[in-house]
Amino acid sequence: MTPPLSVDVAVIGGGPAGMAAASAATGLGCRVGLVDSYPLLGGQVHRQAWRRLGAGQDPVAGLPRRFRGLGADPGVRLHLGSSVWHARQVTGGFELLLTTGESVHAGAVVLATGAVELVLPFPGWDLPGAMTPGAAQALLKGQGRLAGRRVVVAGSGPFLLPVAAGLVRAGATVVAVAEASRLRPGVLGRPGVWRGLSSSPAKLAEGAGYLSALLRRRVPLLAGWAVTACRGRSQVEEVRLSRLAPDWAGWDRERWVRADTCCVGYGFVPSMELARALGCGERPRRGLPGSAVVVGPDQSTSTGGVFAAGEVCGISGAAAAELEGLLAGRAAACWVGKRGGRPGPPTASVRRRLARQRSFAVALEQLGRIGAGWTAWLEDETPVCRCEETTWAKVRQAVGAGARDLRGVRGLTRAGMGYCQGRVCGPALALAVAGLAGRGLAEVGDLATRSIAWPVPLGTIAHSAGPG
Ligand SMILES: Cc1cc2nc3c(=O)[nH]c(=O)nc-3n(C[C@H](O)[C@H](O)[C@H](O)COP(=O)(O)OP(=O)(O)OC[C@H]3O[C@@H](n4cnc5c(N)ncnc54)[C@H](O)[C@@H]3O)c2cc1C
Repeated sequence: MTPPLSVDVAVIGGGPAGMAAASAATGLGCRVGLVDSYPLLGGQVHRQAWRRLGAGQDPVAGLPRRFRGLGADPGVRLHLGSSVWHARQVTGGFELLLTTGESVHAGAVVLATGAVELVLPFPGWDLPGAMTPGAAQALLKGQGRLAGRRVVVAGSGPFLLPVAAGLVRAGATVVAVAEASRLRPGVLGRPGVWRGLSSSPAKLAEGAGYLSALLRRRVPLLAGWAVTACRGRSQVEEVRLSRLAPDWAGWDRERWVRADTCCVGYGFVPSMELARALGCGERPRRGLPGSAVVVGPDQSTSTGGVFAAGEVCGISGAAAAELEGLLAGRAAACWVGKRGGRPGPPTASVRRRLARQRSFAVALEQLGRIGAGWTAWLEDETPVCRCEETTWAKVRQAVGAGARDLRGVRGLTRAGMGYCQGRVCGPALALAVAGLAGRGLAEVGDLATRSIAWPVPLGTIAHSAGPG
């Protein structure tokens, strides 16, 4: 086993939160190790195009200027194209085990692992051409490739708009953008909603920009509609759009449209595996599956020496992630006793800007919610877990046979036991099992408790000390 690399602060995740944390910590004199699964820095929002692994590509060239210094900073050691598959507390700090076989020893850790997309299954979602909006975005940004020529973008949340706008700008025909939620009467009058939305005019303007790009290309924008099925011989050829009942349990109108691709996603779920492995306190998300890390004003978690920033703390967008990263990097540096160095913006002003970003996100979250009746779209044979091909009928049988939570359903059906380890199907399964068993989301739990957070070859485990 390679001897561990020793750093003051290890940052897991190279998105806006992780990059800001690494910059802040190195600015205060720390030696920083920054790990990301992707071969280049940037995370989801600043994803850079890459040629191929080992091509000697500059990992920061395509980033906004403020992050480019990370590439040449002698205080930062980049571990790119490498995932942390296990993290644990050891004497004097923390040990991270990487899929490359290396290990990193750190006095403090910043978790900036971001989020995954929430996918609700539907008949046909296992056909080639059915994917998430994030997957289409990643193909476009990372490899300059269009996911398809005739695309339906659907689901719920503001992320649908930049994805659809990006696709039309790149030359795709977007057949429709379907947002499943409808603006509920009176929602804008709720305390905090209007104030939250108006707290970030720049974001409203960004949203308006996407909308006008779509309207200029005459893309139909549907509210209260969802993709409830797609079909085709060997890939998506037709997509069913349905106008949903208020609880999504059925629909009063439907139409099949011709498309080779459908991108469907219902927002994001924080990536909690490493936070949970390190024992960080969590909070449930109201009405949504998964949980988020609880942090203090300096982004400290309940585990001393572990800080968290960005979407792992809740879905607040890229600007908030960056501000949280800045605070987390400073606090982690402080934890390991480093306080001198480059002064950044005053903490009070960072917190004020962060509060505005968070109130915008909270307001946005109240505009949509997942209708409890979505499982009415599923047919007996619809795979709910694509890795293990567990069907909806098997999940229902498992609950009928007495499974009361996700672990029980996994044990009886293998759902969540495949390569993605429940990252794709877990959140939807939680919603479905809660509905079937008549229990709350917190009671049915999730599939994020894993001592191996990332798929890793057995040989790598054998050559490391392994989870203790
Ligand atoms: C698929 C997807 C696409 C998105 N695209 C956009 C977009 O185009 N525009 C936009 O405004 N918002 C987008 N978002 C929302 C977006 O994630 C953010 O608002 C913003 O990027 C959050 O920043 P972050 O630093 O918290 O997380 P991210 O930017 O997601 O960065 C987290 C990073 O952690 C890494 N990581 C996670 N676990 C591990 C591990 N175990 N080991 C090593 N590395 C790990 C990931 O590879 C990732 O690079 C997207 C989200 C997702 C899930």
